[in-house]
Amino acid sequence: MMQRIVSILYDFLLSVARMYTLPQLLGFGVTSAAVVFVSVRQRRLGRFARRAVLTDITYSAWFGVHAAFITVPMSLWLANLVSGYAPFLRLGLIDNLPAWMSLPLFFLAADFVQYWMHRAMHQWKWLWTFHKIHHSQREINPLTTWRTHPVELIYANIGAFTASLLIGNIKAIPPLLVGLLAASQFAQHSDIDWTYGPLGRFIVSPRFHARHHSAEAADIRVNFGGLLIIWDLIFGTARRVPERPTAYGLVDAENDLPGSFLGQVSYPLLVFWKSTASLLKEFRRNT
Ligand SMILES: [Zn+2]
Ligand SMILES: [Zn+2]
Repeated sequence: MMQRIVSILYDFLLSVARMYTLPQLLGFGVTSAAVVFVSVRQRRLGRFARRAVLTDITYSAWFGVHAAFITVPMSLWLANLVSGYAPFLRLGLIDNLPAWMSLPLFFLAADFVQYWMHRAMHQWKWLWTFHKIHHSQREINPLTTWRTHPVELIYANIGAFTASLLIGNIKAIPPLLVGLLAASQFAQHSDIDWTYGPLGRFIVSPRFHARHHSAEAADIRVNFGGLLIIWDLIFGTARRVPERPTAYGLVDAENDLPGSFLGQVSYPLLVFWKSTASLLKEFRRNT
């Protein structure tokens, strides 16, 4: 019996561990080492000794579990559903192009979809209830990348799947690119004022994304880009300020989130419960 439990636990941990790919972990490791190094030099290492960072660690662990048991099965289920009932939805616009063309086109299209999905999360109240969890961290650090509500992860997966139906899938992303993309995501949440020099005119730098996490009222709904800043420039949401924000997190009026992982995950459900209850109350009063 004991042996069986250990073997189930081992399989579980193995399938979770597989969700963190090597290039992704290398991207995280290199970025984190650089962030710690700069933080020591700036005498700001104390910012990692916070309870809120523990919450980020819990989200990071959850990310693997979520990917293994929700994201992957859900993507397979959606793919089977489309193949079985609506194969015409697969437009595959880049399917027959050579890799040197399909790869940049794939990232351009995926980044465009990501921009609008992110912007929608800030625009629509119900989506914001989930997304504000990512913005609740006042001490942003590389692990904040993973501070995402499970419902938002599902939303992102549906978006990525829809985009891949329309534009098609690329055969394989070179591991170096996977590592660089992961490093870029972790660096964006580093709270180190890196600008990437001239490259920062095109690529989302830590300074650019930091402004998206700013708690200042002037910074609400700016800098939604994930990889490229062109969408923010084209659609008028770019805000480039030559310094780090003075504070991160939610603006005061929005700051009603609990600090723990479980408290935050249940937060949107409580909000929905409360608003449904008050709607019902209103309805009963009027009938
Ligand atoms: Zn956001
Ligand atoms: Zn972020």
